[in-house]
Amino acid sequence: MTADMKSTIAANLSMIDDEIGKMCKHVGREKANPRLIAVSKVQPKERVIAALEAGHRIFGENRVQEAQERWLDLKSDHADLELHLIGSLQTNKAAEAVTLFDVIQSVDRPKLAKFLAREMEAQDRKLPIYIQVNTGKEEQKSGCLIEDLPDLLKLCNELKLDVQGLMCIPPAADDPSLHFALLKKFAKQHGLSGLSMGMSGDYALAASMGATDIRVGTAIFGERNYS
Ligand SMILES: *Cc1c(COP(=O)(O)O)cnc(C)c1O
Repeated sequence: MTADMKSTIAANLSMIDDEIGKMCKHVGREKANPRLIAVSKVQPKERVIAALEAGHRIFGENRVQEAQERWLDLKSDHADLELHLIGSLQTNKAAEAVTLFDVIQSVDRPKLAKFLAREMEAQDRKLPIYIQVNTGKEEQKSGCLIEDLPDLLKLCNELKLDVQGLMCIPPAADDPSLHFALLKKFAKQHGLSGLSMGMSGDYALAASMGATDIRVGTAIFGERNYS
């Protein structure tokens, strides 16, 4: 890893943290600042190490297998790591997800909730979860539809899942503030305090609108190279 890349990633992290902190202060948020989840999916491992060396400990991944390959050994070296699953989860990966992750942010359907509850019981690992809401009703996107949210929350309650909040990924073409406001409204309606919203392009906006979890990839690590 070049010293350059290492210092760039450290600088990005502290700049974003600063901006989020300033924005929270600006709007008079009283509670603790949101957590900054560094989204490391697809990034080369040395960039992830650079963030770890800069002292960052909260990371997000969207695929179980990729996350296992990357984090299993790093996890044993860093007891204070906090790994968030932020991508869609197949039920046949529920067991592995419960073993590896500390928070599951992408629960979006009854079957998955049931599998996760069973696995958490079997592994005696009760993880906080978020319900992903498809606020933009995009067909290609995961997330539960707004009209299905009450039933899904009811089921999670019956399954004794620890639902901490809601998560959304606004459609790229929309003004994100509309989606953040919707998510906030639904969370409040259901008495949930967690709001996972905001990415590289809109983290300051999300902070100003009450996000408790902000998921930033590119603005910390640089562009993802999918080739
Ligand atoms: C990739 C991803 C992010 C981060 O996106 P950036 O634009 O790179 O900050 C945030 N949330 C989810 C769910 C993602 O899949």
